[in-house]
Amino acid sequence: MTISQLGRSISASSTLALNEEARILRERGEPVISLGIGEPKNKTPITALLSSAAKLSEGNVKYTPPDGTPSLKKAIIRYTEENYNRLVEPENVIVSMGAKQALFNIMVSILNPQDEVILLAPYWVSYPDIVKLAYGVPVVVTPEDGSFTPRMVEIERAVSSYTKAIVINSPNNPSGVVFSEDFIASIVEFCEKKNIYLVSDDIYHKLVFDDVKAYPPYQFTNKDVESTHVIIVNGVSKLYGMTGFRIGWVIANRKLVEVMSNIQSQITSGTSVLLQAGAEGALNGMQSLVESLRLTFENNRNVILQELRTFNDIKVIKPEGAFYCLPDFRAYSNDSVKLASHILQKALVVTIPGVDFGMEGHLRLSFAGSVKDIMSAIERIKWALDPNSPNEIYIGDRKFIRDWL
Ligand code: PMP
Repeated sequence: MTISQLGRSISASSTLALNEEARILRERGEPVISLGIGEPKNKTPITALLSSAAKLSEGNVKYTPPDGTPSLKKAIIRYTEENYNRLVEPENVIVSMGAKQALFNIMVSILNPQDEVILLAPYWVSYPDIVKLAYGVPVVVTPEDGSFTPRMVEIERAVSSYTKAIVINSPNNPSGVVFSEDFIASIVEFCEKKNIYLVSDDIYHKLVFDDVKAYPPYQFTNKDVESTHVIIVNGVSKLYGMTGFRIGWVIANRKLVEVMSNIQSQITSGTSVLLQAGAEGALNGMQSLVESLRLTFENNRNVILQELRTFNDIKVIKPEGAFYCLPDFRAYSNDSVKLASHILQKALVVTIPGVDFGMEGHLRLSFAGSVKDIMSAIERIKWALDPNSPNEIYIGDRKFIRDWL
């Protein structure tokens, strides 16, 4: 059997292997807690459900335009005006199957083979593979000072004549870090000057804590949407907890939207009319639920930080947004895959190895779950790793004794 070079270059995520291990343990009845989850636990917003259901009961579920239904685009245009202070035209908007397909469309539309895309570590796990799927080359910039805050000098050093785009994601998955106003202003200015696309993945942009602000890149350019190099990616997955609806979008210049629309029309066609109606319902409905998710995550963030600070040897940078943190576990192991597997086997807690995000020696912990689960999970991890913690623990109604430290 021959497999293409491209096919072979796409990595199997170590997360999948861990999830499989977790599934087997759960099937055996083990009380596994997942800190791996990348989605809010809320119920679908009622306005989204009603809007989808109304479409379904019309009994007219057909193809949609490849770039999105006019009414969802209208809702996205309003969202963009309200949240980015930019009035764009329907020709500047394309709806895709999640922000993931949106990012894929962008890369396929702007990259020639061997063109480079700069990614800032820690980065979202799928970015390198999405770039590779478009025959591009991911160039990773890792902050030299061990922080999760990128610096312009380091980025400038990584730019070459092949650089087509830089991807930023703030609030950040996996670190929860929110980039400063200065940084966003500088990177926008740099990209506009150098004619490099700045792809801003804003999927978590309203989930920020402690009065921190996630600055929209549009604020720092006076170019209009037709001439700016800023491209916005957003969607309903995280802010409205609608991951299963698979609706994301891009705001970009008309030419790029037209090219992405052609590409999408040959791959998936327009996304389902039912799910677009759902997204429209969420965008046009009550926005207080986004605020209530934000408050829940802020509280969960406080809980997980408080619990993690009871370890002597873990360094953690305080997340200011999203629902993840990325503590440094190198005091226990430099191999995050082995460490995550050990924690799963011994403590029945799913964590995600930092190596998947370009940060070996770290583990990504999601705090999107319940406070109770967060507290039990950290207690279990502590028991599995820290010789100073009591060597007995109750998991469910069983007593476990640590005999490996
Ligand atoms: N970007 C980031 C940073 C994400 O964390 C995710 C989802 N985990 C996505 C994009 C993809 O979102 P969607 O569900 O809309 O495809």
